Amino acid sequence: MKHEHVPRPLQLDTLALHATAGAPAGSAPVAPPIVLSTTFERNPDGSPPSGHYYSRAGNPNRDAYERCLAALEGATDAAAFSSGLAATIALLQTLSPGDHVVFPQEVYFGTANAVREVAVPWGIQATFCDTTDPDAIRSELRPSTRLIWIETPSNPMLSVTDIAASAVVAREVGALLVCDNTWPTPILTRPLEHGADFVVHSSSKYIGGHGDVIGGIVAVGPTLHAQEAFRRLRTLQTAGGAVPSPFDCWLLHRGLKTLAVRVRAQSDSALRVANFLVAHPGVSAVLYPGLEDAPGHEAAARQMSAFGGMFSFQVRVGRDASLAVASRLRLFTHATSLGSVESLIEHRASIEGPGTSTPDTLLRVSVGLESADDLLEDLIQALDGL
Ligand SMILES: *Cc1c(COP(=O)(O)O)cnc(C)c1O
Repeated sequence: MKHEHVPRPLQLDTLALHATAGAPAGSAPVAPPIVLSTTFERNPDGSPPSGHYYSRAGNPNRDAYERCLAALEGATDAAAFSSGLAATIALLQTLSPGDHVVFPQEVYFGTANAVREVAVPWGIQATFCDTTDPDAIRSELRPSTRLIWIETPSNPMLSVTDIAASAVVAREVGALLVCDNTWPTPILTRPLEHGADFVVHSSSKYIGGHGDVIGGIVAVGPTLHAQEAFRRLRTLQTAGGAVPSPFDCWLLHRGLKTLAVRVRAQSDSALRVANFLVAHPGVSAVLYPGLEDAPGHEAAARQMSAFGGMFSFQVRVGRDASLAVASRLRLFTHATSLGSVESLIEHRASIEGPGTSTPDTLLRVSVGLESADDLLEDLIQALDGL
């Protein structure tokens, strides 16, 4: 009997480095050059030789970055934008005025703001619900529901939405499921494998990974319906023009090459730090799906290979004390954003302002690549000073 060798699919660590290989042999540079040119010379017959003709429509650095992210997400294609919110708005613009979208109550603050300030005035109907409960999503559905938007774990409460259960609800009404995968990254969660149609990222976070570039990207699954919507998204990318620069794409593509090692190390440290804080008398709550008694732990374990570098905790004695902890820390910088190599901490309620439902004792932590021992020492000195 003849055994055919079926090649095993490459692991994500390998794909991140080799998904876009295939440059011509010879003296091709190993690190890709940045192609700044806005325009590309045509063949004598007028056809574009490299497939490119003008950089708003396409650029070699953007192509390489999009192909690499698509490979990591198990997507057929991806489209890069100049920010996570530009990607979000473009995806909503694939719809028509009057179409309805369900969003999570605990959606990223900037996404809720973009929906209220941009999408709703343009004619999108939006409702917000507790997406951690599939029946809550189901009760929002209307004949005009076109998209269900989820984000998991949520920001900053770390609530877990079950992607597969949300996909079942979306299929019931023929709506597309969009998953904001900024926090887990494809290293920990691949939403398309759980039935999502689109994955959205703010690549300003873990993908860039060094806190020095703003970007967004949308990856698409294989169904006909999703592919059709993606063609419209491509048109919006080119015709709307919210594209990232070649240098931004080069930085983001470089970020993908170290994404797996960064995210796994950050997840390991976050789990250690979160477990330490649970036992600290100055802390009243730790919100992290990696904790075995966390409400979302089981759903998270089904769709995440580790629990990520983000968690929140609440300081027992109140708002002023939690702000004091944030400013007393030496290794955690008191600043917004997440997913960078440096640890960051933030008092979300002050950023979100009046009317927020975020508890005023809550601190959100993005664990960086410092030694977890040093991070623990730093938290001990900041909390013991209370
Ligand atoms: C930051 C963020 C966004 C928005 O992305 P920008 O790049 O800041 O426009 C969207 N979703 C999540 C979960 C984020 O953390």
